[in-house]
Amino acid sequence: MRKEVHVQIAKELFKKLNLPKNYEKVFIRAVVEPDRWRRRHPRYKHHYLQYYTILDYVKRAREAYINGYIQACLQNLGIALHFIQDAFIPSPRTRELRKSHQHLEGKVASFKGETLFMLRNAIDEGFMVSVSSPKFIENVLSNIQWIYDEDEVLKCATKTSAMITAAVFGPKDPPSGLREKYRMLKEEHDKRISKASIISLISAIIGLTLTILLENIYLLPIFFFIIPILIYAGILSDDEEFYEVKEEASWYGIK
Ligand SMILES: [Zn+2]
Repeated sequence: MRKEVHVQIAKELFKKLNLPKNYEKVFIRAVVEPDRWRRRHPRYKHHYLQYYTILDYVKRAREAYINGYIQACLQNLGIALHFIQDAFIPSPRTRELRKSHQHLEGKVASFKGETLFMLRNAIDEGFMVSVSSPKFIENVLSNIQWIYDEDEVLKCATKTSAMITAAVFGPKDPPSGLREKYRMLKEEHDKRISKASIISLISAIIGLTLTILLENIYLLPIFFFIIPILIYAGILSDDEEFYEVKEEASWYGIK
């Protein structure tokens, strides 16, 4: 996506945040930053969704915000938004797509009054439907896809950027009960881990004893690797709730 488009979306988003004006520069610089990496890091394919890269930058932005580092927050968020916006535009890599890519980018770059109005609407909508949670972010990111319609692509890229921005700048206080729930699940999780270690240790002792008694060396890997791996996998597989709550907790800076 062209630089001016990234910048225009960032400017409109920034207005919604009610931050001191001097932060705007930081945000805009971050939003165009990934295009300067292009030559140095060709592996960043801008027009393919970099799901984990984006998620990582969004989480870093949120962590900075929670800790009161607005500048670092905007830097990370800006980079994430760049990749999000680019991910809506079909890659120019294939020949038949190149034409429509240029057409799209050209069209998207012209900011008439009408386009600006649409942009602001998309931002308002995004802020309205946003939920400040990692689950929401993941859901939004996994719904990103190439859009071939010029108006639609700008609208979706902007609305999605607004949803992510509003989520990062969402309430700092955790929802009631989250802290306690996380603590409880963590205790259970730690107990499971120590249970798995004890069973693995017993398995290793039995294995060693049997190996000596039966003089069969092939028993060792079964008791030393296979059984412990199965035990850990079994015990930790139904710990999904713990990992979900852990992610939610760290969104609020709960360790
Ligand atoms: Zn780009």
